[in-house]
Amino acid sequence: MTTASPDPTSPDYKTLLESTRAIPWKIDWRSMQFAYIGPQIEPLLGWTTDSWVSAQDWAERIHPEDRERVVNFCISQSKAGVDHEADYRALTRDGTYVWIRDVVHVLRDAAGEVEALVGFMFDISERKRTEEELITLQKKLEEFSFKDGLTGVANRRMFDSILEQEWGQARRTGQPLSAILLDIDYFKQYNDHYGHLQGDECLKRVARALSRAATRSRDFLARFGGEEFVFILPETPAQAAQKIAERCRDLIFKEQIAHASSPVSQILTISLGVGTHTPGHEDNAADFIETVDRRLYRAKQFGRNRIANGEG
Ligand code: GH3
Ligand code: MG
Ligand code: MG
Repeated sequence: MTTASPDPTSPDYKTLLESTRAIPWKIDWRSMQFAYIGPQIEPLLGWTTDSWVSAQDWAERIHPEDRERVVNFCISQSKAGVDHEADYRALTRDGTYVWIRDVVHVLRDAAGEVEALVGFMFDISERKRTEEELITLQKKLEEFSFKDGLTGVANRRMFDSILEQEWGQARRTGQPLSAILLDIDYFKQYNDHYGHLQGDECLKRVARALSRAATRSRDFLARFGGEEFVFILPETPAQAAQKIAERCRDLIFKEQIAHASSPVSQILTISLGVGTHTPGHEDNAADFIETVDRRLYRAKQFGRNRIANGEG
């Protein structure tokens, strides 16, 4: 009973096999010829049942990128007498491809020799499409969690991880690490005057302008929170960091974003704190950022629209 081969041509089997959506087939192992293929193959791929003569026809209708992998796998599994399954793109008669899952059972004769392969082909294009959509969604999710949703620059989470990484690197190499913290002046008044939506647009513009301020590949810009942004500048001494801070102010100035209710200027301005440090073993990154933040606070106190770098 267990070794008997189902005969797909017997009336009972035929009815059963041809009423399922899966496509049954049988290949004789010695001749490598199709003994049977379900008529459901025609509506799916367009090829008539009698065009499936040998295993060669099957192999030729596999997408070139999948063919070698699938054929080699199926042959080696079949030789070893192991049931198996393979996913591949099958060529349709009009030149397109359909994702198929082929589930294969190896039939042996009384002597234990491989006698035939029987299997079912399943149309899995819907499942593949869902899989692909899932991958795209996952990528988007990753982007969402490392990117600030409004401005598109890196978010605070990304900042924390880059800071830790660059801090360690600077400690190992003994190179100076610089940071710039900056904050839009009187942004509350901006929102009050122009509305929150325009406030959002303004933040996007500021982020876009700032992203042109530092150009080396490891220079890093993030939205620190609210209307504050932060740069991490690896291998950057104080003087170079000061230059980049000045460029930030220039770039925002050149945007000429009207800010009618700002007490310091008729156009939007920013205040900046700059710091440079070569980390030693006792130091930690949080203290460094704290220092830079105090300088930003000082820039605000001294009248805003300026840079504080710890000198003077
Ligand atoms: P200062 O010059 O001292 O920095 O004054 P300020 O008004 O900029 O500072 P404050 O901290 O009082 O206000 C910050 C404002 O930024 C308040 C908050 O509503 C606004 N803000 C924070 N995040 C967003 C945002 O995502 N969109 C908009 N439109 N506004 C935001
Ligand atoms: Mg502000
Ligand atoms: Mg602020």
